[in-house]
Amino acid sequence: MLTRGELEAIERKTLAPYAIASSASRGRDRREAEHPYRTCFQRDHDRIIHCTAFRRLEYKTQVFVIHEGDYYRTRLTHTLEVAQIARTVGRTLGLNTDLIEAIALAHDLGHGPFGHSGGDALAEIMKLRGGFDHNLQALRIVDRLENRYPGFLGLNLTWEVRQGLNKHRAALEDGKAPAPQLGLEAQVVNIADEIAYDHHDLDDGITSGLLKVEALGSVPLWRQAQQEVRGLFPKASARQRKDAVIRRLINDQVTDLLRESTRRIGRSRIRRPADAERLPGPVIAFSSSMSRSRSPLKAFLQEKLYRHHKVVRMADKARRVVTALFEVYLKNPDQLPFTATQRLKAEPPHRVICDYIAGMTDRFAMDEYRKLFV
Ligand code: MG
Repeated sequence: MLTRGELEAIERKTLAPYAIASSASRGRDRREAEHPYRTCFQRDHDRIIHCTAFRRLEYKTQVFVIHEGDYYRTRLTHTLEVAQIARTVGRTLGLNTDLIEAIALAHDLGHGPFGHSGGDALAEIMKLRGGFDHNLQALRIVDRLENRYPGFLGLNLTWEVRQGLNKHRAALEDGKAPAPQLGLEAQVVNIADEIAYDHHDLDDGITSGLLKVEALGSVPLWRQAQQEVRGLFPKASARQRKDAVIRRLINDQVTDLLRESTRRIGRSRIRRPADAERLPGPVIAFSSSMSRSRSPLKAFLQEKLYRHHKVVRMADKARRVVTALFEVYLKNPDQLPFTATQRLKAEPPHRVICDYIAGMTDRFAMDEYRKLFV
């Protein structure tokens, strides 16, 4: 049986010198006894998996609203794909994959119902009252809104996981000095997030019929991968071919990312975690030629999927639902559940309602809307 101390020693021996070792963690806000056989980052990872906000990811929209089909991505499956890509990148670069996985699993906890449109509606309402941002909301959740431990509010995560979730550093730092870069482990999660959603949105877009494979011929990255797949598997079905192209695209981009990041680690002489945070730009990055090749793909998704009239209609409806719920609760906060009304004694109603709605799944928000308005 390996003890935590032995696991920490294995980390120090096997991870790259620029990885954040769990034994070097700055620790937790509230002091706790260490676990006998889990490192602090493993423990954070486990706390995240067992929290309420994580389970709700299953019924939250990525792009397609939850009831449209059960083969599309949800926030939960998106999160798992991000964790998979991030783990591959992190392990290959010698980074701490326990830390990476904890950040990846928590990175979208702050999203409200109905994806970005739900968040936009909350941001609009909260504009003059402290705002709403899903990254900061993820921090609010792990710092205080989850209420399952008798000794503290939130999950009492380590500084490193919290820092990895905070893409808007000004809120954590004092705002006087220029914000340092995220740690390498968090940088990996950021890019893995992008790789994951670009390609699963492409996949779901094609499956739903909103995107046409023929139209993708105008995207050089796609065209090239498609030609290679045709040459290798001339007899494959259309679906096998589409999947093979997407796998190839992800693999090519991850490979480019690994090469370019390794080059930057060498060029900038990154020897300790802090070296990466002081640089003017990220270390984990695509080569400039891959970045150039990726932009037509992203532009294609913008124009043909995210601005598709069916997606826009859905988004607009989501905004109306969120806004209507907010107004009804604000007019009569007694309709809120006990946990929320308790908070109203000490906190402004806008923030309490915002937290409550942001915690909703698509399904719950739609049900609630029906109950209140139909
Ligand atoms: Mg994400």
